[in-house]
Amino acid sequence: MLGMNGKIARINLSNETISIEELKEDIIRKYIGGLGIAVRILYDEVPPEVDPLSPENKLIWMIGPLTSLITSTTRHVIVSKSPLSGIFGESFSGGYWAYELRKAGLDGIVIEGKAAKPVYIWIDNGQIEIKDATNIWESDALETQTKIQEILGDTKIRVACIGQAGINLVKYACIMNERDAAGRCGMGAVMGSKNLKAIAVRGNQDIKELVVNIEELKELAQKAIKKTTRNIIVSTTFGPGGTNGNFSILNMTGDVPHGYWKVGKWKGDKNLATPRWKKLIVEHESCYLCSVNCKKVCELRDENEKVLYRGLGPEYETISGFGTVLLNDDFLSIFNANDLCNRYGLDTISCSETIGFAMECWEKGIITEKETEGLILEWGNKEAILKLIEKIAFRQGIGEVLAEGIDRAAKQFGKNAEKFALTVKGVEMVHHDPRAYYSMGLLFATGSHGPDHNEGITITISMIPRPELGFNTPIQRDSNDPEMNANAVKTMQDVTAAKDTLITCYIVEGAIPFKLLLKIIKAVTGLELTKEDLLSVGERIFNLKRMFNVRCGISKKDDILPARFTKEPLPDGGAAGKLPDIENMLPAYYQLRGWSADGIPTDATLKRLDLIVD
Ligand code: SF4
Repeated sequence: MLGMNGKIARINLSNETISIEELKEDIIRKYIGGLGIAVRILYDEVPPEVDPLSPENKLIWMIGPLTSLITSTTRHVIVSKSPLSGIFGESFSGGYWAYELRKAGLDGIVIEGKAAKPVYIWIDNGQIEIKDATNIWESDALETQTKIQEILGDTKIRVACIGQAGINLVKYACIMNERDAAGRCGMGAVMGSKNLKAIAVRGNQDIKELVVNIEELKELAQKAIKKTTRNIIVSTTFGPGGTNGNFSILNMTGDVPHGYWKVGKWKGDKNLATPRWKKLIVEHESCYLCSVNCKKVCELRDENEKVLYRGLGPEYETISGFGTVLLNDDFLSIFNANDLCNRYGLDTISCSETIGFAMECWEKGIITEKETEGLILEWGNKEAILKLIEKIAFRQGIGEVLAEGIDRAAKQFGKNAEKFALTVKGVEMVHHDPRAYYSMGLLFATGSHGPDHNEGITITISMIPRPELGFNTPIQRDSNDPEMNANAVKTMQDVTAAKDTLITCYIVEGAIPFKLLLKIIKAVTGLELTKEDLLSVGERIFNLKRMFNVRCGISKKDDILPARFTKEPLPDGGAAGKLPDIENMLPAYYQLRGWSADGIPTDATLKRLDLIVD
């Protein structure tokens, strides 16, 4: 139906009931697929008083109509009420899992309740079983995948699971599938709270049968590959260098954070920058059916050519997190930190930021060896970084406090530590400095789930024009013009929400022109949409996320950045002396969105978007 399987599985772990529900056609027409339907279910079924780690919270997994049909679309989204922020949470992951779910005949899974003992879910071509996970409960996230494949006797089974961080309810635990992570917002902790270790999937249905016009899609899919691989950003950065292929360009503009966002220039950059990084790449890998190959297998050798590390390399966010944020220029320790986080199932962004916060607290004398049990938290101490990751995952010593995220740790430390708690709506910063791109500051302040560059990145439209969205010239990155920034952020948030519902990968955002994308949507679903229709779906979804948060008490008071980004200029580097004025941008943003002066969508806006909310 409309390019989808038209079915979601509802699995209640408390009473072990499993049902298959038909997706209603009007819901698909209104939300198209992945993110939109997931947000609608969350809004309708999880009231504001629900504790994120209680059985009443729900963990909702969705794929979209384009999943695994054209390049860069094998992705799934997981939404829930976030235990880190207490508001809306979402996280996306790539790899192969989404393709397998689609072949198994499902579009999504809603997990409810809490199992009495550790379990995993086995979906075999739409047949669903809840199975005992006692023997694999304490395994790490990579071992778990192999063990489940062994238990079920099929190496082609794809497994999404949690590691030790998830079972220990670390507030920023992630959900791993292969070596991809649904990283942000603590979805792994929600899974752990339900005693759910993994969801294993295998399917063998022909997904082409879901497509309305397969011959046309084949032709369009080839065009999409050409457009994607020839795109200027993909072909010069993400293709050859992965997400860290951007490091040097971003660093020139002051976008890359250093020393927990206090340092501008840093001599260690040369060891992490794009030229050095590219020398470490030995192979290129991709998610299923992606022509970009942005995943980089790396090899690190010592001066005697002995291999110190070989494996899938970290993403930009992880390299900046465990590298520049902590003033650590040792690549081997960054590879190892990434590996530990993948195994334990920790979000590398929140984890590295939390360690950065701890290092600043150490520098300021707020915590000492007494609290750290002898660990010296000086900048760049790579042994301490790796030890802290372990302590956090297992909630040992100071790890017990840091596992709660920066805001709660700051309260616990006291002594004015809250001044250095660099979070937005309770979620740690992603590694793009709002002082380098002011519109990114507005994006982070108004984000539905804390700061997330992937919810509407405006850096690209600050670098190259995007005429199809009305940006005939790049926007000025350090302008405090409220209208310009409001328009850039709203546009990119709506575009992203629309594409997150299809679901296309954020890395190729902008590579496939709307004209082609709309033809692809028509070939797959039969829906004849205009660009405006699609953006209106995105706007509807973004507003529904906002309404979920409004019900949780979110308003203008929460749409703020930490003072470090608005009052403390960097001394040097590409963003030296620059400060975004977010407060002054908000009225223009709210007006453009059709929200009240306090940041609440008005009745007229909800009516215009055909959004029914209570
Ligand atoms: S661009 Fe990279 S992350 Fe995105 S689908 Fe392709 S390989 Fe996966």
